[in-house]
Amino acid sequence: MRVTIRQHTGLLLAMRFSKMEGPLCRSCGVAIHRDMTTKTLAGGWWSPVSLVFFGWATLLWNLFVHVRLTRLPQPSPSPTGVVMDPGRPVFRRPAAYVPLALPALWLTLYFWNQASSTY
Ligand SMILES: [Zn+2]
Repeated sequence: MRVTIRQHTGLLLAMRFSKMEGPLCRSCGVAIHRDMTTKTLAGGWWSPVSLVFFGWATLLWNLFVHVRLTRLPQPSPSPTGVVMDPGRPVFRRPAAYVPLALPALWLTLYFWNQASSTY
């Protein structure tokens, strides 16, 4: 199936958009999806525009891709013999929990900024 899986990284004032495009079988699709979604969860929030928009947009996009991938049948052994191991689900990867620490981090940055601008 032809899919485009996306990854977003916010770096304060810069942003990076990555994607993996191609006809993928279920195993490879899920493997790449899990990797890129986890990286977006970990790194997709570190610029203001990313936090407000691109982080969510990327995750939402990948969510739709995930639904399409799970409708595919399990792959038959591929002619090349190369089938990626899907690996652990996203929520069993520690990096997926970075967003839980976000409110604290952004609040710290905010107050630090406020405190330093009073001088
Ligand atoms: Zn494959």
